[in-house]
Amino acid sequence: MQPIRIGLVGLGKIARDQHVPWITANPAFVLTAVASRHAQLPGAANFPSIEAMLDGVPELDAVAICTPPRAHYPAARLALSRGKHVLLEKPPCASVAELEYLAQLAASCDRTLFATWHSRHAAAVEATEAALRERILRRARVTWVEDVRQWHPGQAWLREAGGFGVFDAAINALSILTRVIPEPIFVRSALLHVPENWATPIAAEVELESGRGANISARLDFRYRGQPKWEIDFLADGQSLQLVHGGAALSIDGTPVTTPGAALESEYAAIYRRFEQLIFCGESDVDARPLQCVADTYLIARHIAAEAFEY
Ligand code: NAP
Repeated sequence: MQPIRIGLVGLGKIARDQHVPWITANPAFVLTAVASRHAQLPGAANFPSIEAMLDGVPELDAVAICTPPRAHYPAARLALSRGKHVLLEKPPCASVAELEYLAQLAASCDRTLFATWHSRHAAAVEATEAALRERILRRARVTWVEDVRQWHPGQAWLREAGGFGVFDAAINALSILTRVIPEPIFVRSALLHVPENWATPIAAEVELESGRGANISARLDFRYRGQPKWEIDFLADGQSLQLVHGGAALSIDGTPVTTPGAALESEYAAIYRRFEQLIFCGESDVDARPLQCVADTYLIARHIAAEAFEY
């Protein structure tokens, strides 16, 4: 099979840290072009916009969209309508309706749409799903706290409307929860802390409930100083399951669970293997549930003003 000629849209932090190296490492792909308003990638054909890229390299097979979420929908719609397979960074779109429409469009154009949730590919997520499948979940507690100054310096879009605020990171926890809990998850109440100079929440406390009645509480905070905590504790059948480091390690009652081979695997290596497989099989993978959870949180939440915050 010919390698899949792929173009990147948005050459920011995640594109440079993960997409460029893992596309380059996968022989099924060739990184052919880049659309970026400000940056250039040596060795690729560079264009200032996706429109110019699609016109300039009409032979592209696929496009990976790595811009902030509000820019995902117009870029994906254009790429699909020009016959390209599309990979979306998370959060996949700024609204559930946009994502649903893109899924329909991909089906009608007979193209692959892959709404990636990179945290679902973290090393211990599959083992957590297997462990919970054999147990009855009673309670879960999500702690997703990090210092926005350290992890997102200069990313002003996070605090603008449609930028998701703390949910840009916390949607990773929701993507894990919706992967490992085999029931629907409902938002029951939420408190959103919105700084006076932000349009989005900088922190949130959310209470959720699984379809079988397990209580799930989440503490999400972008103001946290020090080492980030990206952790989910589950209480199931009287046992304590601790998923830490963003899904990379699991322990049950304090005993580490080994996940052979997985520790060496990058989330993004797995993402590009999956994209290749989806294109090969003529399928899409679009799960809107983590985005739906964020939308439901906004619907149900009480908003409280927080101090202005610069980063
Ligand atoms: P970033 O560093 O700000 O890069 C985003 C790039 O998108 C910018 O460099 C810009 O590139 C382009 N862009 C296009 N339209 C834009 C607009 N309206 N406003 C701002 N930039 C625009 O952000 P990032 O961290 O790479 O995040 C991008 C996406 O990846 C987000 O959806 C994020 O949730 C996701 N993600 C990020 C991380 C992470 O650790 N940072 C991890 C996983 C997923 P040009 O100037 O080149 O056009």
